[in-house]
Amino acid sequence: MHFTTLASGSSGNAILIGEDNRHLLVDCGISGKSLLHNLSQINLSCSGIEGIVVTHEHVDHIRGVGILARKLKIPIYATTGLWKVMNHSLGKLAEDQRIEVEESFSCAGLDVLLYPTSHDSRESYGLKISRPKKKNKKDLAVGIATDSGIITEEMHRHLKGCDALIVEANYDDQRLQYGPYPAYLKKRIRGKFGHLDNKQVAEGLLEWIQENTQRVVLAHLSQENNTPEIALSTVLGILRDSKGSKNLANVPVHVAPRHSPHELMVLME
Ligand SMILES: [Zn+2]
Ligand SMILES: [Zn+2]
Repeated sequence: MHFTTLASGSSGNAILIGEDNRHLLVDCGISGKSLLHNLSQINLSCSGIEGIVVTHEHVDHIRGVGILARKLKIPIYATTGLWKVMNHSLGKLAEDQRIEVEESFSCAGLDVLLYPTSHDSRESYGLKISRPKKKNKKDLAVGIATDSGIITEEMHRHLKGCDALIVEANYDDQRLQYGPYPAYLKKRIRGKFGHLDNKQVAEGLLEWIQENTQRVVLAHLSQENNTPEIALSTVLGILRDSKGSKNLANVPVHVAPRHSPHELMVLME
């Protein structure tokens, strides 16, 4: 199983996950053209992409969804509630491109589970994407949590023990506090329905990383209120200081680039 981020942050998000030559996209918040360009930068073609799963209707997650679905002739998977609010912004779609899903479904040969996050959109979801159980093959799962103001029970339930984790490290609280944002925006970001800061996500990771966890990717960093260096040092500091039997400091932690793709990450069998 492999995965990567193709863009990450408030200017646009897209994650690619797959196995062999089949992939799915989680969100496409950059233009269709940028997405195809970013794929080519890591030597991937769009031909294996079988669908786009939408986490929520904010523009940094759906900007290119309609265009890309039309171009690649692939379906879009979203809950009934999200379809209601996205309909007008995705443009014309064929009936079979509009797939209404509930909490679990399959796409590109992978099992997708949606769980609610706490965010100021109509609905918003984190995901756990797993390889279907097969004899002689290890169970593998990638857990995703971005766009949530708090760590929820559902996050704990679904992210604990994932083989890879893509999690939001949106802001550094000090930088937000003394940064240029107006008070109402600071309040929104910090609020229950805003975003996770570096320390919050590190506390979550203390629970979620288990012996089998191979990689962690910090995603959706704010351009104004965080830097890759601060996010990484805050999270690694908390993981290293943790007491307990798990050796959390040995798990590689990456930062998702804002405008460019991360190199493809392949989970070990
Ligand atoms: Zn959002
Ligand atoms: Zn977002």
